[in-house]
Amino acid sequence: STLESLQALEPKLHSFLSVTADQALEQARQVDAKIAAGEAIGMLAGIPIGIKDNMCTQGIRTTCGSRILQNFVPPYESTVTQRLKAAGAVMVGKTNLDEFAMGSSTENSAYQVTANPWDLERVPGGSSGGSAAAVAAGQCPIALGSDTGGSIRQPASFCGVVGMKPTYGLVSRYGLVAYASSLDQIGPFGRTVEDAAILLGAIAGYDPKDSTSLKVDIPDYASSLRPDFKPRSKLRIGIIKETFGQGLDAVVESAVTKAVEVLQSLGAEIQVISCPQFRYGLPTYYIIAPSEASANLARYDGVKYGYRVEEADNLLTMYAKTRAQGFGAEVKRRIMIGTYALSAGYYDAYYLKAQKVRTLIKRDFESAFQQVDVLICPTSPTTAFKAGEKTDDPLSMYLSDLMTIPVNLAGLPALSIPCGFDEQGLPIGMQMIGNVLKEDVLLSVAYAYE
Ligand code: GLN
Repeated sequence: STLESLQALEPKLHSFLSVTADQALEQARQVDAKIAAGEAIGMLAGIPIGIKDNMCTQGIRTTCGSRILQNFVPPYESTVTQRLKAAGAVMVGKTNLDEFAMGSSTENSAYQVTANPWDLERVPGGSSGGSAAAVAAGQCPIALGSDTGGSIRQPASFCGVVGMKPTYGLVSRYGLVAYASSLDQIGPFGRTVEDAAILLGAIAGYDPKDSTSLKVDIPDYASSLRPDFKPRSKLRIGIIKETFGQGLDAVVESAVTKAVEVLQSLGAEIQVISCPQFRYGLPTYYIIAPSEASANLARYDGVKYGYRVEEADNLLTMYAKTRAQGFGAEVKRRIMIGTYALSAGYYDAYYLKAQKVRTLIKRDFESAFQQVDVLICPTSPTTAFKAGEKTDDPLSMYLSDLMTIPVNLAGLPALSIPCGFDEQGLPIGMQMIGNVLKEDVLLSVAYAYE
């Protein structure tokens, strides 16, 4: 029935780049057979899931939303999808995304534009827009996304679902196509906090195949959820001062303010916290992310795998034409910015400087978490915008991630949870940010609020 409703909605939403119906039915039958035989089944047995199409799935096309990977069928499985399979989850398809996860609206996909289920003329956010839209519309109950600067939280906010970016290193990235390696992290989408907690539990944990993977014990996120803040003696919540005021939609501001009042009525102690370096997040990110992307994307040269032009009479022309035809405009823009920022003579002025500012942003968070347990701000300054509205203006598109980006720069966990609607009935998201590896605290606060 999931496949039927998924297919019925697909002509309107375009959230999937491929639907793996046959494999899904086969996997579901295997779960049935296990149950019939009285064998043990996993935590997610039989639960349909959508996977963002930048995670490698063995034998199943993985495009990353790019022409350059249009025929790429990975010979190996990413750790996250491997773990989901082991838990019995049934993948129903690969979801649409901005090419190489670069974007905030899913309009940068080389294949299709995904619609926001709440208003089909609007974007679902991005870059994990396919996963967010699919969960919001009920095409599948849970999905995975990846978040480099907000790509899980911002679409979760635009689509009215829960989306979480875990601490850097909590979830293995083995098999995730790299965008900006010091920022990328995989995380869950769910319609409820509990669903997101269960999914996070299934994918988190040490993986020797990812050198940035953390060796830490994974708590049982789902079973520690409680409807109140006990047994904590006092839950301290900080509102990030710099995220309110100019540039923030009034309706978003009032919804988040109301949500904070709800948290207060549940017993949280509310303080206003200043993070003065927060505003340098965006320029810092747009040096670091494109720099790392320009290095990561050097591998797409038409030689080892992926797209290759036919008509080239020597190797250099082949490289150049393959990349010119294989990459879209936004990806080329990032490669050019990154190559420039890393080039000899500019490295100190841009990349090195950005790394220093990154440390300052991190210190703001460190001092904030000496005073509070959780930080709160809007997830995005606006609700979902119309398709086409920002495509010609990259800078205004970049502003969409103003509030999510500093979190990636500091490697912290954060989630977006629905907290109301604007006058047009579009969902608004509230962002909750936690200290390193405090996913359990974040999830329980979000659960109590929900
Ligand atoms: N929108 C941001 C970008 O384009 C973040 C994307 C992401 O988190 N993958 O880089």
